[in-house]
This record gives sequence, C-alpha cells and structure tokens, in this order.
Amino acid sequence: MKIFNTLTNQKDEFIPIKGKKVNLFVCGPTVYDYSHLGHARNYIAFDAFVKYLKLKEFNVFYLQNITDIDDKIIARAREKGVTPKDLAVAFEKEYLKDMKALGINSVTKYARATSYIKEIISQVQRLQEKEYAYKIEGDGIYFSIDKFKDYGKLAGRTALGTEDSVSRIDYSKDKKNRGDFCLWKFKQDEAEPNWPAPFGDGRPGWHIEDTAITEKFFGAQYDVHGGARDLIFPHHQAEVAQMEAVSGKSPLVKYWMHVGFLTVNGQKMSKSIGNFITINDFLKRCPLNYFRFFIVKNLWRSPVDYSESVLIEVRSAVDKIEEFLRKLKTVKSKTKNSTENANSIKNLKTNFYAELDDDFNTPKAFAVMFDFIKQANELLNNDLLSKKEASEIYKFFQEINTVFGIIDFKKVTKAIPAEIKKLVKIRELHRKNKEWQKSDELRKEIESKGYTVEDTSTGSVVKSI
Ligand SMILES: [Zn+2]
Repeated sequence: MKIFNTLTNQKDEFIPIKGKKVNLFVCGPTVYDYSHLGHARNYIAFDAFVKYLKLKEFNVFYLQNITDIDDKIIARAREKGVTPKDLAVAFEKEYLKDMKALGINSVTKYARATSYIKEIISQVQRLQEKEYAYKIEGDGIYFSIDKFKDYGKLAGRTALGTEDSVSRIDYSKDKKNRGDFCLWKFKQDEAEPNWPAPFGDGRPGWHIEDTAITEKFFGAQYDVHGGARDLIFPHHQAEVAQMEAVSGKSPLVKYWMHVGFLTVNGQKMSKSIGNFITINDFLKRCPLNYFRFFIVKNLWRSPVDYSESVLIEVRSAVDKIEEFLRKLKTVKSKTKNSTENANSIKNLKTNFYAELDDDFNTPKAFAVMFDFIKQANELLNNDLLSKKEASEIYKFFQEINTVFGIIDFKKVTKAIPAEIKKLVKIRELHRKNKEWQKSDELRKEIESKGYTVEDTSTGSVVKSI
C-alpha cells in the first residue's frame, strides 16, 4: 500500500515501524465551540482510513488529543462568564456526541491535554537542559528555532519565513526570533487556569501537548500523524522540532497525512458570512450515510466543496447502491453460476482494493464500484445472476461498508408491508389502463405512508423514505 506523505512530498510505500502495529495520532479539537462540517471532513476521512487499515489486518492504535486549555477557551469563557474548565468540559461532551453521530468509532483513546501536565512539564525541562528552550522572565518558556537546524523541513519553509504564523500565546516582544514558540506560559492573572511547575506556575503552549501525549503512548517515534492541512505550519513543524530535539531521534513521524479543506459554495466557512454549518444542524437534514459518502467520495487530501447540488448527486448515487442491493436480495435460485460472473466479481474486489491501496484513492475505487453496478444491473434485469453470486456481491458491499458507512442496510433490508405492495399492484393496473389521475392519487397515498414508488422499464420499484 502507498500513501502520500507530506514529509517526502510523494507517495511512499506504507511500512509501519513494527510489523502490523500502527501507531497513529490525529490532532483533536480545541473545545471552545461546536464542531462544523470542516471538522467532520477531517475526522470522517481518518475514521475511514483507520477502518481500512484494520480491514487489512493492521493493529491500529488511534490516538487523538483534546485541547482543553488554550487562549481561545479562556477568551470564550470570559465572554460567557463561565470558567474555562466548565466551557471545555461542555464542548468536549458536544464533540464526542458529534463524533458518535458521525459513526466515528475508530479512535482508541481521546487524551485530554490537562491530564498530561506532568508529561508536558518533563518535556519542557528536557528542552531546557538541552538548551533548546529559554526563559523570558514574567512571560514564559520559549523554543528557540535557531537551535533546531531542520526547522521548516516538514512545511517546506525556512525558519526565516515563519513570521506570519505567530498565534497569541506565542507573542512576546522579548523573543530571540519571531518564529520562536511558547512551550509554557507563566501565570498572568489569577483567573487563568494554571499548574505548578519547577520553572514557574502557568499553562502549556499548544504544540507541546501533542508531543507530550504521543511520547507517553508511542514513545519518541511513531507511524502516522494526521490533521487538517492548515496545521502543517507552524503546529506540526513545531511538534517535529520539540520531540526530535528532546529525543535526538529522527523522524518523529514516518508518514504525515494532511486532509484537504472543506468549503461551502466555494467559500471558506466562517460565522461572519453566515455559511457556518455545525455537524449537529447538518445531521438533522441529511442522513448519516449520505453525509459520509459526500466526504469519502473525494480523495482525502483534495479540497471538498459543499453545495446543495452536490448533496443531490450524493443522494442519487447512494440510492443507486441501495437499490442495487435490494435487487440482489430478490434473485431467484434458478439461475446457474457462470465463470464470466465469477471473474467480474473477482475483478471488482481486486480493482476496488487496488485503488484504495494506491494512496487510499476512494474516488477511483468508487468509480470501479459504480461500473460494476451498471454491468450487474444488466445481468439482474436479464436473470443472469445466480443466488450465490448475488450473495457474494452483497457480502462485498457489507465489507466495504464497515470502512465507509455509506449504505443504510436497515433501509435495504426493510421489508415492504403487504398493504403497500397491494397499493402498488393496484396502481400498476391503473397505469396499464392509462388511468393517470387514479395512479397519481395512489402514489400520494403510498408516499403518505412513508414509501416512494418509481416507475422503471421493468416495473414499479418501492422504497421506504
Ligand atoms: Zn495538534
């Protein structure tokens, strides 16, 4: 299997450090607000990737941090008149609820930053001992990027080009280099959460929490680090510098995976232009399996644009899959197996997985799948698929659904009640007799009972809504 690696800027053969064991870390949320579609894109992409690794029998430890102490949390808590801790706890709950609603259940461990203060302090101390860190009195402890010769390597930038990315906590007029970042901020006022430390009471910087957590669970080096594209610099570059400086081992991470952005109608999502969509709101009007297909049908590292028209296409594509599966269930036993069918089923599996093995290329894999559905629909319409073949295909779709979660099998297997079937039969008679008004009335009645009816060349197709 190959995967595109930000570190080497190419597709690399995926070979974990220790056999089938994969240690994988993804940057989690800063819990100060509701999660939105952009977050969903990132976490669904990694959920599918991890589930694919598991399907390939890798033993994956998927670790995610939760940033529960940060400038944004402190500022928002102040606005709302609550404590930073209460705010973080409340939004962590919301985040985990959203992840559950998105079918994301591949994470082995969520690690809250404030539960690893001891590990953070130890890393800061070791950086001080090795003279990668320096103290600014009354301010904090900073990492000196001049001391780390490879700074900028991950992002393809030089240390000189770092000045545009200074976040609030990293600001200090007394820094040696403007690109130096904060490892530990000393207590500025009593209202801010702080922890005792030998070098001065205070709170951790953002980058240090990730390396403290990954060192605790994985050690100095591990297999995969993921996150959204905008985290490459300075966040991920800072992680590399900190951990490689502490351990003297390189690289910190073998494969860096950065997921593409999500835009809404071509624009970046933002509260000020009113196109900010929370996961919670979105799931109220879009069933989960459609949503997941919308995300995973795109290559994980490509940008994704959301619009109403895209969603219509997604619905129709998923309906096509589900309709096909429903038809597979109705195959009668009289048709015999054929070598030709066996070959095309074998090709479906081989080609589908070959695309996933090439940089987890889901759009190409799904193209293979839809080509197959088209061919197999022809066979179904002509009674040329055996019951055994149909069931093998059905099982393949069940298998890929454990990775993608794009098919609602409950809907596929839901039996159509006799009462509805009877109405459909009567409606077919009306259509035969060209009694269009009566047929339309029956369609409405069927719809009012929660089913849709479509007229195809081979007869009426009924589905639950
Ligand atoms: Zn992070």
